[in-house]
Amino acid sequence: LNYESVALVVGITGIVGNSLAEILPLSDTPGGPWKVYGVARRPRPPWDANHPVEYIQCDISNPVETQSRLSGLKDVTHLFYVTWASRSTEAENCEINSKMFKNLLNCIIPNAPKLQHICLQTGKKHYFGSFDSYGMVAHDPPYSEDLPRLNAPNFYYNLEDILFEEVAKKDGLTWSVHRPGTIFGFSPYSMMNIICTLCVYAAICKHEGAALRFPGTKEGWSSYSEASDADLIAEQEIWAAVDPYAKNEAFNCSNGDVFMWKHFWKVLAELFEVECGEFEGGERLTLVELMKDKECVWDEIVKENNLVPTKLKDIGMWWFVDYILGSEYPLDTMNKSKEHGFMGFRNSKSSFIRWIDELKDSKIVP
Ligand code: NDP
Repeated sequence: LNYESVALVVGITGIVGNSLAEILPLSDTPGGPWKVYGVARRPRPPWDANHPVEYIQCDISNPVETQSRLSGLKDVTHLFYVTWASRSTEAENCEINSKMFKNLLNCIIPNAPKLQHICLQTGKKHYFGSFDSYGMVAHDPPYSEDLPRLNAPNFYYNLEDILFEEVAKKDGLTWSVHRPGTIFGFSPYSMMNIICTLCVYAAICKHEGAALRFPGTKEGWSSYSEASDADLIAEQEIWAAVDPYAKNEAFNCSNGDVFMWKHFWKVLAELFEVECGEFEGGERLTLVELMKDKECVWDEIVKENNLVPTKLKDIGMWWFVDYILGSEYPLDTMNKSKEHGFMGFRNSKSSFIRWIDELKDSKIVP
């Protein structure tokens, strides 16, 4: 087959990487037919094995390994950067994430003469600050892409600066930046997967005969929230990779509707057949506390239900759910994206149910 485009997806098993792995190879995907290379550190997991992707195990924080495993990919035309590293402070995040991105670009740009476009995925923390400075420096929502950077360290800013600098060195090379909020998607290898974590929580409640208590604040329970479907983000990234009107721009990426967690809580409880809790008031309830020492319970659930083997520490990201449900979630606007020609949207409730079904069908959760 003569490929029109060749994608390199860095973070292929991540929450958006998994959607790119599914969508890019389809026969009707814009810019196609696509040949797809996918990079991640761990061996290829069983749930990724059916995607027609050339899987390459490589740790891009290691420059020597990056050169030896990726410099031979001379036919790459489009790069999708959907990965990151998490450290305990934002200063450390800036350092490690800059290093990873530089290692990769230093390898791909000189070795892939046909490289045309780089998609960089960052996120909504661009507008409200890193985990370190959360609540201290935020802009007023709804967020639009032209807001100035906040005066606080944020590895997203470092990544953008590296991108701008590298792209300027090569004629005709273009870029786009994508800024989703809370992502609804599948990957059990993601460092932040709210749906997977909620499913694991609900399964543990069911197993223990407990109600699905709400681990958040009043604002988290009943103010407007929004989400970004992983397939929608993949579609926006592919659109930006091939459409001339999307070049050299940053875009928000959210579903285009709003919801309240109190309504989705009922949906979750029904899908796992547990008694639905609600906002309780009083002292703040957290999943970090509620789900402490549940490793053995999860191992039992995996065994009883014949699930794909997983460890609770890898798929129960309690801190992340506590963070998202802990306050009012700031909204963004999709105006710029629509004005540039991307009309994609998702119904957040259907998206919520769709990914839960997928996690169940793939036997990640019961
Ligand atoms: P995920 O955590 O879902 O996936 C990360 C992917 O990268 C995995 O495939 C992982 O596999 C791979 N990976 C991690 N480290 C390396 C490495 N050193 N070398 C090679 N591969 C590596 O990523 P996200 O999509 O969540 O994150 C991308 C961006 O999106 C980040 O900037 C994040 O902040 C942002 N974002 C995420 C949101 C979310 O809800 N998840 C919300 C808004 C923004 P392996 O571990 O096997 O290497």
